[in-house]
Amino acid sequence: LSPNTPTAELQRIDAAHHMHPFTHNQGLADKGARVITRANGCWLTDSNGNRMLDGMAGLWCVNVGYGRTELADAAHRQMLELPFYNTFFQTTHIPALALAQRLAELAPGDLNHVFFAGSGSEANDTNLRMVRTYWSEKGQPERQIIISRWNGYHGSTVGSGSLGGMKGMHEQGGMPIPGIHHINQPNWWLEGGDMTPEEFGLARARELEEAIEELGPDKVAAFIAEPIQGAGGVIIPPETYWPEIQRIVDKYGILLIADEVICAFGRTGNWFGSQTMGIRPHIMTIAKGLSSGYQPIGGSIVCDEVAEVIDATEFNHGYTYSGHPVACAVALENLRILDEEGIVTRVREETAPYLKERFETLTDHPMVGEAKIVGMMGSIALTPDKAARAPFASDAGTVGYLCRERCFNNNLVMRHVYDRMIISPPLIISREEIDTLIERAWQSLDETMAEAKA
Ligand code: PLP
Repeated sequence: LSPNTPTAELQRIDAAHHMHPFTHNQGLADKGARVITRANGCWLTDSNGNRMLDGMAGLWCVNVGYGRTELADAAHRQMLELPFYNTFFQTTHIPALALAQRLAELAPGDLNHVFFAGSGSEANDTNLRMVRTYWSEKGQPERQIIISRWNGYHGSTVGSGSLGGMKGMHEQGGMPIPGIHHINQPNWWLEGGDMTPEEFGLARARELEEAIEELGPDKVAAFIAEPIQGAGGVIIPPETYWPEIQRIVDKYGILLIADEVICAFGRTGNWFGSQTMGIRPHIMTIAKGLSSGYQPIGGSIVCDEVAEVIDATEFNHGYTYSGHPVACAVALENLRILDEEGIVTRVREETAPYLKERFETLTDHPMVGEAKIVGMMGSIALTPDKAARAPFASDAGTVGYLCRERCFNNNLVMRHVYDRMIISPPLIISREEIDTLIERAWQSLDETMAEAKA
C-alpha cells in the first residue's frame, strides 16, 4: 500500500480492519474515511490530492507545524544510540533526565519534577493516583475525592475518563470510578442568563467552594481543570473565574491540577496556560505540544512539596514507555525549536493578536453567536438566534457536523463540538494563512446556513 493506492481500496481496507476512536465505525464505513497521506507546514494532503489548511494542528498538537526534519533527525539519532530503555527500578538515561531538567526550567514556580507517561490520559491517571497517595502519605487517607468539571476532557482511560465530564462520552464501560465529583464550567454564552460574564464567572467558581463544603473539606484531595477548556468547545472563562478558584484552592489547602495538555507549549501565548490564566497549580498535565505530536509522550510536572512526599515512599506506578528515549529526544528538540525560533513569543506578540482581530469578525456572521479566542485556541457558537444566545433546537451537534463537513469540502479542517466550531492551528501559521482560514470559515458558515434552512 502507498499514497498511490486508489482511495476506494484504502477505504475498503480501513473499513474492514481499522476500528477508529470516537467514531461510529459502521457509519464511517458507509461513507469512506478521509485518507491523509502527507503534510507540510500547516497543510495536509489527502489521497485524492486535496490540500487542506489544518486549522486544528492535528489534534491540537502539531505546534511547530508538519515536516520539521530536525525532529525526524533527532528521532533517527536517538534510535541508533539507544532506541529503548526503561526508567523503572533505579535506571535512567540521558534523554529522560535532560527533558525533565528542561521542563523544570520552563515551568513556573517550584514545578521542578517530572513523571513521564505516553499520553495525556496516562498522565492524568498518574495524577489521580499521585494526589490520593500524597494525602495518604501525609496521614490524611480520607482525602480522596477529586473535583473536576462537567464538559471537561482529561482523556480516555478509565481514570482520566472518569475525571472528564463531556455529555455522551464518559458513560460507556462503567465509568466514572468512585470518588470523582463534577461541578459546572463557566460557559457564559450558553448558561449565563441575565448575569454579566464577571458575575457568572464568580458564581461558577463558587460552585467549587460549595462542593468542598458539601463533601467535607477534609475529604477533598484535589481540583482538576483545563486552564482553558479545550475539547468541550474551547470555553474561555470570564476574567473573574480563575482568581476566585485560586482563592478557594488556597483557602481549603486542596491540590490544584492544571490539565495543560492543550494549553501548554505556546498555545495560549505563554509556555503554559496557567501563566496566561494567572494560576499556581501543584501539578500540570502535559502531552500533545510537548513533542508537537511527532512522538507519543505526556507527563506530570510536579511541585516540590508533592514530589517530596511521593519520593519518600515507593510510588507503584509507571508505564513501559515512561520517559521513552526517542520520544524524549524529539520533545527536547521540539522545545529547542519553540524557544530558539521565538515561536511562543511570536504567538503572543504577533500571530495571536492578528488571529484574534480576524477571528472576531466572524461574530458579524448571522449564524454566529460568539467568537472567542485566547492565543491560538478559539471557538464560535452557532446559533439560530443571536440575541437570545440560543443553541439550535435540533439534536446538539447536527448543525456543527454540517459545518465541519462544509469546511472539509472547502479544504479547511475545523472541528465541531456539539454546535461549536473550534480552531487550534499550528503556531507557525502565517498572516496569509490566517486570512485563508477566515475566508474559508466564512464561506463554510454561509453554506451551512443555507443547508440548515433547506
Ligand atoms: N487532557 C486534555 C485537556 C486533552 O485535551 C486531552 C486530549 O485531547 C487529554 C487530556 C488526553 O490526552 P491523550 O489523548 O494524549 O491521552
